[in-house]
Amino acid sequence: MDCMLKVLILAILSGNCYGKLLTGSFWHITDLHWDPTYRLVDGNSGSVCNSSGNRPTTHAGTFGDYVCDSPWDLISSSVHAMKNILPEPDFILWTGDDTPHVPNENLGEEAVLRIIGNLTNIIKTLFPKTKVYSALGNHDYHPKSQLPPTENNMYEQIQKLWEDWLDPASRNTFKKGGYYTEKLLNQTGLRVLVLNTNLYYDQNKITENMKDPADQFKWADQVLSEASKNNEKVYIVGHVPPGFFEKKRHKPWFRSEFNNQYIKLIQKHHDIIIGQFFGHHHTDSFRMFYSTSGSPISAMFLTPGVTPWKTTLPGVVDGANNPAIRVFEYNNKTLLVEDIVTYYLNLTYANIAHARWEKEYRLTEAFRVPDASPVSMHRVLDQIAHQNCYLQKYYGFNSVNYDLSECNADCRIDHVCAMREVGFEAYEHCVQKEEASSTVPAILTIVFALSVSLWGS
Ligand SMILES: [Zn+2]
Ligand SMILES: [Zn+2]
Repeated sequence: MDCMLKVLILAILSGNCYGKLLTGSFWHITDLHWDPTYRLVDGNSGSVCNSSGNRPTTHAGTFGDYVCDSPWDLISSSVHAMKNILPEPDFILWTGDDTPHVPNENLGEEAVLRIIGNLTNIIKTLFPKTKVYSALGNHDYHPKSQLPPTENNMYEQIQKLWEDWLDPASRNTFKKGGYYTEKLLNQTGLRVLVLNTNLYYDQNKITENMKDPADQFKWADQVLSEASKNNEKVYIVGHVPPGFFEKKRHKPWFRSEFNNQYIKLIQKHHDIIIGQFFGHHHTDSFRMFYSTSGSPISAMFLTPGVTPWKTTLPGVVDGANNPAIRVFEYNNKTLLVEDIVTYYLNLTYANIAHARWEKEYRLTEAFRVPDASPVSMHRVLDQIAHQNCYLQKYYGFNSVNYDLSECNADCRIDHVCAMREVGFEAYEHCVQKEEASSTVPAILTIVFALSVSLWGS
């Protein structure tokens, strides 16, 4: 016992070991988008999937195609990869979008529930004892994106599918509005808030003229105020993020008023909100939140999707990605995000050879920061904005090594302004400012050329 105590004291005295004692880890997976229609035809040379929308499936194989949503083999491979890489996470965050990108006519309540049920089952089977915090995506409803702010059959049925993962109080708020809060792993001082931000999505016609659908903002503000009194640290989890899509200029997801309210909520409670975890983009990026005086107060991590599906959003060129899953390492007392490790499947290689899930990158190594705190993430953004090598590195990660082309000056503005400014006006201002400064060198060149020619004449 004496000896054990000495080891413990030594471990506490040496910063490293002490750090490790408090380091926990959890998975974040998102946007699995299972397409049950995926079939290989003509041996291995072609595929059929409804989610391709008749686009040619040139890379089709066992694990999918870049224009299709995930075949079951990819879903299964990704959950098994989680089990192999980190079999005993502290918990799992799962941020939704389970069904394929197909017209509403091709699905229905029953089909959507069956898909959510099958994905829930595979996660439960491989992680029977792990707590899962599961959020609804805009594709986890029929018709898609029309999630209502009131009780309905689908919230009720999904609540039953997730019953084992939800505390009794969570089941009630979930049935009412698709959101809930719990003590993180039932521990004093730690909390998780799972939001239904699909209520704020501009595609959701049902909530269009509402001030506070399902009273979610009011509820979140109350929960966070109470959490603050109780000295709790909080993680916020959701699907559709506020702010702008980094692959398409001027493209937000939230309606403007909801976007404002979300930012205000974070600014008000930032000292207890230690991390925000969202999906929906299918890409790998992050969003910064600043105080009114400009200091970094919060970071939102956007985890890339499992589906490789190339987006059909007009204006986005070649917007596919390799399938990804992600481990967060965190301090299990303060909730500080210490590091982020992203794993991925090179889909082309997987279809030719075998499913090899490999580490893509570790945040602290790739960007030379001590952790993923708001201050560190601000530094990561600063490096991306001002050093081309970091911009190109980030751009490769953004599509999970799918698009390895150069991120040019316009691309830089799209990504940097989306990461820096979540507010609508601030984003537009950023774009204007960056455009103006990127045209300065061109103007200087012309002035220089003119003066040289005048000098010569
Ligand atoms: Zn999605
Ligand atoms: Zn989505």
